[in-house]
Order: sequence, then structure tokens, then C-alpha cells
Amino acid sequence: MRSETFVPFRTGLGFDSHEFEEGKPLYIGGVHIESSFGLKGHSDGDVLLHALTDAILGALAEPDIGELFSDRDERWKSAPSELFLREALKRMRGRGYELINLDCVLIADRPRIAPYKDRIREKLSELTGLPVDRISIKGKRREGFCEVEGIACICTVLLGRTDAG
Ligand SMILES: [Zn+2]
Repeated sequence: MRSETFVPFRTGLGFDSHEFEEGKPLYIGGVHIESSFGLKGHSDGDVLLHALTDAILGALAEPDIGELFSDRDERWKSAPSELFLREALKRMRGRGYELINLDCVLIADRPRIAPYKDRIREKLSELTGLPVDRISIKGKRREGFCEVEGIACICTVLLGRTDAG
């Protein structure tokens, strides 16, 4: 049996980015967004779910999303990224932790994030079981961050021991 020091809280940080790809459906946070382009990548390219998955795995010091779901593995080709998040949540619960809150920054010049913010928060609430008032999504413009156009996402999470209180 693995012995684990009792840590009441753990924070995690996740980052991801994908370039645009014409003609691919665009998913952000599990929400389909009307657009002529999607995000290039082996899976559905959901940059927010990838950053969130890595934040949870990082908080637990588990292997990261690229180690668990290799882009050379045919099983994950065009896979819905909800799969990756579900695995991270399963590992989190198995280790005796629950999500307390999450905070994400989406960096993109297009599409505008603001009109989709509440739908994304609701979808993340459905996927994680967190109430929406503990889910924050912020949209930012690139402002010279990167030359190639696409979407980047930074996400932080706080986990708490389920037996802490
Ligand atoms: Zn990704």
C-alpha cells in the first residue's frame, strides 16, 4: 500500500495551447462553439479541458496528460477530452481529495469567450460536480503572447482532503 503524508490542501497548475485548424469542430470546456475553425491536435483539441486535467494531475503529482494519454496512441485519436478529465477526477477521488475551486484563463483573439462563459461554467459544473460559483473562466486577448494564432489556457485548482473536516 502506498503511504501518503496527510496534506489537507494541494494546488495544481495546468497549461495547454493548440493552433487553429480550419474545418474542425471547436470545443472549449466541453462546449461546442460555432466556428469555421477548431483546434489542431490528436484529440478534439479542447484546450481548457486539457489544462484543467493537467492542473488536477499536477496537484496530485500524478503523471501528466501527455504521459497518460499519448498522442501516438490510436485510442485517443479524435477522443472527447471529457475522457481525460474523468480519469484525473477518478485518480483524485481515489487519493482521497475533492475539488474546492478552479480558475482558468483562456488566451485567444477569436472567438470571443465572453458570450460562452456561462455555458462553459455550467458544463464544467456538470463534469466536475462543483457548483458554478466555484468555477471561474476569464478571457484574455493574445497581446503579443504568441505569433501563431490559436488558443492557450492556464488553469489552477485547489484540492482538499475529503476527510479533512
Ligand atoms: Zn491539448
